[in-house]
Amino acid sequence: MTKEGHRLDPSDWDSFNQDMHDLLDLCLARMRGARDLPWIPKPDKMGLELDGAAQSTADTFAQITKTIMPYATGNTHPAFFGWVHGSGLPVGVGAEMVAATMNSNCGGRDHAAIDVEREVINWLTRTAGMPADAFGILTTGTSQATILALSAARARAFGTDVRKTGIRSLPEIRVYMAKGAHSCVAKALEVMGHGSDCISQIPVNHQSQMDIAALEMAIQEDRAAGLAPLAIVGTAGSVGVGAYDDLNAIADVATAQNIWMHVDAAFGFWSRLADAPFCNLSDGIGRAQSIALDTHKWPGVQYDSGACLIADRDLQRATFASRPAYLKSAEDGLAGGDLWFCDYGIELSRGFKALKVWAAIKTLGADTMGKAITDNFKQAALMADLVTQSPNLTLQHDVISNVCCFSVVRGDVACIAADLQIAGQGVFSTITIDGVPCLRAACVGHRTTSDDIRTAIKAVEATQV
Ligand SMILES: *Cc1c(COP(=O)(O)O)cnc(C)c1O
Repeated sequence: MTKEGHRLDPSDWDSFNQDMHDLLDLCLARMRGARDLPWIPKPDKMGLELDGAAQSTADTFAQITKTIMPYATGNTHPAFFGWVHGSGLPVGVGAEMVAATMNSNCGGRDHAAIDVEREVINWLTRTAGMPADAFGILTTGTSQATILALSAARARAFGTDVRKTGIRSLPEIRVYMAKGAHSCVAKALEVMGHGSDCISQIPVNHQSQMDIAALEMAIQEDRAAGLAPLAIVGTAGSVGVGAYDDLNAIADVATAQNIWMHVDAAFGFWSRLADAPFCNLSDGIGRAQSIALDTHKWPGVQYDSGACLIADRDLQRATFASRPAYLKSAEDGLAGGDLWFCDYGIELSRGFKALKVWAAIKTLGADTMGKAITDNFKQAALMADLVTQSPNLTLQHDVISNVCCFSVVRGDVACIAADLQIAGQGVFSTITIDGVPCLRAACVGHRTTSDDIRTAIKAVEATQV
């Protein structure tokens, strides 16, 4: 029975209703049982081929739950320490379902989703300690946010005419960041047409922080050579060792030199919510002209979701707003509304990411989120203690925040990491520090306990016999 106007909706809503309830039960059971579900290798043949033929909703849901759902990244598991992966929030399952139901287009116009996103942005700028009229936009993550932020920096440095004339007439720019800062900055500069060669990598001190004297020297030399400093990128939580630049010192230089300060705070932003002394790591972040952060990492909001925060709202608008006639707003009606997010970023049609972020903050509250983050800082310190006590393991970098990197006496770290992953005993990633291959753990999982840390280190120890 597929008739015009009914072709794509369920032919039997009652049975669809039942299928959905069954699906929800399976999803919640999976989340509730996250501790029993580490990453497992997927079968060689997944049987997901699309041949264009139709099947029932029940069959599709069965395939999803049996063939796809078990083979996730594994980051919902408490012993997942690899890279920096968020562990997912149960409340997000509900928010995602409602967002899918509403199917709002958050590029603009006058509807509730816009207010939700405005509230989320306001909360984030307040949490950062930015000026009261700072603004921003939710993004797919820090990579996209970095493109937006550096585009705004460029508009400020060279005027918004650059939108029309492109980069041909611009002087050669320089962007400063510490050695070990994230590759998303290079990618943003590639996308923007400047090329990653315009990055000036500044040496770091023993805490892997940008050397401020070296920064000042580089700026001075570049200016003398006729280059145009565009931005200084501070890092709050480096992906390698969890380093935090001295953001106040960077802000002082940026202010004195009249250079845009951007902070890559992909996961380190969330130190703002932690107890002292951990919250002090990111002091000064509110002085940045722009901040890129992820909600899908440390706070565990579902992928994908991140944000770009920009201190100068008018500049943000001037960098991106563009409204041809078919996008004209109106005084009243759906085409009204004083805030169209398409004016503040690169997307026109946009999903309702804000709801899962709003629901997470509203439900958990900053206090509880901060406690979970504080736990993670302490877990990394515990891991460092265990490593230090072990005759077979060597701490290769001070634990600055929530990341612990250590080497092993016996064996190849890549093989050890893979063996532990395949055995479901824990997910470490690997990194080379001063030429020494290391196992690397980033503690960002809200389900992780101190016991999980002890068990994971015991599992690594067991590879050393
Ligand atoms: C993850 C990460 C990024 C990139 O963010 P995406 O959300 O993956 O685009 C940038 N910087 C740091 C420090 C990160 O940890």
